[in-house]
Amino acid sequence: MAAGNRQTSKRKSETAAAEAARGTRASESPWFEIRPSNIHGLGAFASRTIPAGTRIVEYLGEIISKEESRRRLQAQNHFIFDLDETHDLDGNVEWNPARFINHSCSPNCEAQNIEGRIWIVATRKIPPGEELTFNYGYDIKDYQDYPCRCGSPNCVGYIVAEEYFEEVRRRESRRARPPDEERPSEPFQRRP
Ligand SMILES: [Zn+2]
Repeated sequence: MAAGNRQTSKRKSETAAAEAARGTRASESPWFEIRPSNIHGLGAFASRTIPAGTRIVEYLGEIISKEESRRRLQAQNHFIFDLDETHDLDGNVEWNPARFINHSCSPNCEAQNIEGRIWIVATRKIPPGEELTFNYGYDIKDYQDYPCRCGSPNCVGYIVAEEYFEEVRRRESRRARPPDEERPSEPFQRRP
């Protein structure tokens, strides 16, 4: 591993990045503000009308190897993006304001890998005050550990990539149904 000096310089560069992020991305973002969310914790809310296709904010983070990524995923880090064949991006850093953007089953943004950088891009026009969301793209493995409370009419109940929605609904419809009064609006119960 790195010697002491290299660790120090790494810390310094992270501090510089943090300052840069605060100055140019967080506080001066023209598109959103961070405040409490009904979905989860803090969320990002449009502070003005955002046209469809807008690159709202870059998803910043530490670039790590696939091996390190696996370690952090096992340690329950949920901010890791697949970047390319050799590296991932860990967005669980203070200087990444995009980490506050919540997951939704009916998102208004998506994460796009544009020339090796992750951007949160508006997939439709977003009015002021609306919470920004994107699909976190989780695998179906252990999906029951990640309940979704996005509140959208077609919420699948769990945080998974859209390609797994049908499979999750199929599995959930096979599970024993809870009493109606307890969870009356489970989306899978309304399917034909
Ligand atoms: Zn949902």
